Amino acid sequence: MVRYLKAGLFILSGTCEQVSRLISDECDRPLTSEERWASRVHRLNCKQCRRFRVQVRFLESMLGRQRFAPGLTPQARDRISRSIRKLK
Ligand SMILES: [Zn+2]
Repeated sequence: MVRYLKAGLFILSGTCEQVSRLISDECDRPLTSEERWASRVHRLNCKQCRRFRVQVRFLESMLGRQRFAPGLTPQARDRISRSIRKLK
């Protein structure tokens, strides 16, 4: 019971800082169901976090394209990946 109360509290009280971290983490690992709900519920009322998620998704899609770009050396791909991770 306490576990469900903690999960509900986390879902309803997520801050922009916590949710932006979840949005970044979403690129690297699958979120738990509590984390997904916390992110979704927060983004319903937060335009900045919705916009941040769109931007992160865009960067991820660009990185995905870069991974398969034939003109880039593996070192250049690693350098770009590290730079993008630092932005998160
Ligand atoms: Zn927010």
